[in-house]
Amino acid sequence: MAKQSSKAKLRQHFLENIGRVMNSEELFSVSGGVSEWARRVRELRLEEGYKILTHNDRSDLKPGEYLLLDPKPQPAFARNISKETRALVLDRNGYTCQMCGAVAGEPHPYDSTRKTRLHIGHIIDKSLGGTDDPANLRAICSVCNEGASNLTLVRPSSQKLLVQIRRAKGEDQL
Ligand SMILES: [Zn+2]
Repeated sequence: MAKQSSKAKLRQHFLENIGRVMNSEELFSVSGGVSEWARRVRELRLEEGYKILTHNDRSDLKPGEYLLLDPKPQPAFARNISKETRALVLDRNGYTCQMCGAVAGEPHPYDSTRKTRLHIGHIIDKSLGGTDDPANLRAICSVCNEGASNLTLVRPSSQKLLVQIRRAKGEDQL
């Protein structure tokens, strides 16, 4: 089937060009000149979990540029979540990132060159026993999604920080 072979060609090309920015002309020709090459790339992202980056993910990419940094597809995550559940969660969250408040399709408040793209994220991470149940899902933008693992939900108060500083050694206090 032509559809599958063009997707396979694109997948292989991305995997052979990790870390190199590619433009739409290149991908069009790699796909064998298939007019739906962009849809095939989207399928590699959404259905197979390859983190193919675009200008919506990284401000140093121009529209029409694509970049794959990680050869490993993302572990089953949003991919296992049905379209219906995704729609339900996005609708419940008002198409708004539940961490920073960015709205789908609008310029991102932290980086106006990026259009806000929403993902479905787990409130309790799967590695911590969270499930794919809609109650454990929320809309989260790609900016927050990238930094999500580095954020703790509860930030220490200034009082707590002062206590920690007072407990430290004199030289470290400085
Ligand atoms: Zn966000």
